This record gives sequence, C-alpha cells and structure tokens, in this order.
Amino acid sequence: MDKALLVIDYTYDFVAEDGNLTCGLPGINLEQYMVDTTIEFLENGQFVVMPNDMHEANDPFHPETALFPPHNVRGTKGREPFGKLKDVYERHKDDIVWMDKTRYSAFAGTNLDILLRARGIKEVHLLGVCTDICILHTAIDAYNLGYDLFIHERGVASFDMEAHQFALKHFKNVLNATIVS
Ligand code: ZN
Repeated sequence: MDKALLVIDYTYDFVAEDGNLTCGLPGINLEQYMVDTTIEFLENGQFVVMPNDMHEANDPFHPETALFPPHNVRGTKGREPFGKLKDVYERHKDDIVWMDKTRYSAFAGTNLDILLRARGIKEVHLLGVCTDICILHTAIDAYNLGYDLFIHERGVASFDMEAHQFALKHFKNVLNATIVS
C-alpha cells in the first residue's frame, strides 16, 4: 500500500441531474471512470478514501450557507455516492474509508493526513468534483503537506469549464502535479 485514491464529492447532490448543487453532465460523464479507477486501486491493495461533504441544513455558522443552496445535508440521499459508484461502495465498504468533511479540502478538520502518514503513503491521486473547488483546495493542502499529487483528467469535472481549465493548469504549473490522462 503506497498510493492513496481520494474520490471526492462524487455524490448525488453534486452529480445527479436533479442534485442540489450539481455540476450536471460533465460530472455524470465521469461515472464509469470513477468506478473503474476505484476498483483498480482496490484490486491493487491501495488505500481508497471517499471524502464527502456533510452539512447541516441552513447552518448559520457555515460560510457556504451564504454562497450555495443547501447540499449534502446529513442523512439525505444527496450524500450517497452517485450512480454505479454507490454499488461499488456498498460492495467494498470494508476496504474503503468513508470520510465526512465540512470544508472544500478533504484535509480540513479531518484525520486524512494522519491516516496517510500512518501508512507511509506519499502518492495521492485525486478524482471527483468540482475541479476548481474541492479538488483544487484538497490539492493545495496536499501540496503544502508535501504529498506527490496525481490528478486524473478524465476523473474530474466542474459546472464551470473555464474554471476547470484554470484548475488543471494550476495543478500542473503551480502544484507540480502529474496530470494523468
Ligand atoms: Zn459544501
């Protein structure tokens, strides 16, 4: 086990057509890649983590309340993995670490860094949505903590194409990430 796969926010609210904060078709189109890559990492005995937003409805103390409609609210369908990834998660629950997060970055307020260090993992692969929000913020924290970053171009998407392209350039040119295509 020397690599980690982080499958970030690939949930109903962020991906489904009628999700509460959906990135729509660009997100839906990732479904098969998410499934295949998750299974590949599991079969190779690598560390698979699913960091997913968990919010309280209309939390007055949360900064996102002023920015976005309620999404990924605790105990709702919005927090379930989207599409076929849900089946993969159900089947491999014992080998996947589900991680609740409350900020864009999967490192903010979670034990992700501790889990990675305990396993001696330096190489972190990112998949999920949105490229320019939760993927970007997670990538910046990973960079600052000294991890080697791999961003899977076919495994990230956003509702904002321009911001998606900006983030891909930023990963490569500023965070020294390897873009896996
Ligand atoms: Zn959120």
